[in-house]
Amino acid sequence: MTSKQETLVEVRNLKKHFVVKKGLFGRKATFLKAVDNVSFSIQKGETLGLVGESGCGKTTAGRTILKLYEPTAGEILFAGAPLQNLTHKELLPYRKKMQMIFQDPYASLDPRMTVGEIIGDPLDVHKMYEGQDRTDRIKELIELVGLKQDHINRYPHEFSGGQRQRIGIARALAVEPEFIVCDEPISALDVSIQAQVVNMLEELQEKFGLTYLFISHDLSMVRHISHKVGVMYLGNLVEIADAHELYTNMQHPYTKALLSALPIPDPDLAEKSERIHLQGDVPSPLNPPPGCAFQTRCAYAVQACRETKPQLKDMGNGHQVACHIVH
Ligand code: SF4
Repeated sequence: MTSKQETLVEVRNLKKHFVVKKGLFGRKATFLKAVDNVSFSIQKGETLGLVGESGCGKTTAGRTILKLYEPTAGEILFAGAPLQNLTHKELLPYRKKMQMIFQDPYASLDPRMTVGEIIGDPLDVHKMYEGQDRTDRIKELIELVGLKQDHINRYPHEFSGGQRQRIGIARALAVEPEFIVCDEPISALDVSIQAQVVNMLEELQEKFGLTYLFISHDLSMVRHISHKVGVMYLGNLVEIADAHELYTNMQHPYTKALLSALPIPDPDLAEKSERIHLQGDVPSPLNPPPGCAFQTRCAYAVQACRETKPQLKDMGNGHQVACHIVH
């Protein structure tokens, strides 16, 4: 994996809060702080893996970057251009450059459309190909993801889960994007075909110089595909580092607990390592504790953790950790 320096996607202090109850008669509104002050950047041609338990805000972060959700606050930069205040029309050229692969290949493909119509739809939206050129482009994409050209007139229900995800990938690739948010792209697939899909994503990245945000709770797969990995907890990014650094020198107590569940191939090391079982539940994102959001489950919490929210600090080499006891 080569490291390139050009930043393609950057988010600064990104927030996405959903109003779950309006404030009537002078009462305060209730907000779900799905993403609360998240900052990171992704270099061109690289993959940032985003991990964390279900409900930690990683999918919301991905959708907000693509402006499928309006950000509550913060900046989204694509190749240096700010996107957060663009109108629908101004955003259209960027929509072409930024695509998404969805988690559920069953739900994300319209069952009434043929494969050709599904893959051709974004070409029509962005007015990219017409007539025979359009058909040729669709066939090219079908082959690119390992399907057969004569699948063009078939319907999604005629395919397996893995094949459907390939159709979803072809649809995302149709408009020649530069950046793709892969939102749990393998979690709905059989284990036996997960690696095939991930390997294909890697090959496509190499071939087209694609940049990925790879959202997953599968820590092994994230390690395999990512150049950099960020860990989210309750809407906050608590640690981010190069993949090898994060997996071998994790610092945040939450990251340590998450990674302790990973199988270790070396039996000697496995015997010495200890699985950390987190106590307690994830607090409600409607009412997160003050200070560090992880304090209710952290064995190392000190007074400062209950009073002040820890900010990400650079430990060197871009390894950033948000924890009061990590120096
Ligand atoms: Fe634990 Fe405190 Fe660090 Fe939060 S800031 S992870 S509560 S030690």
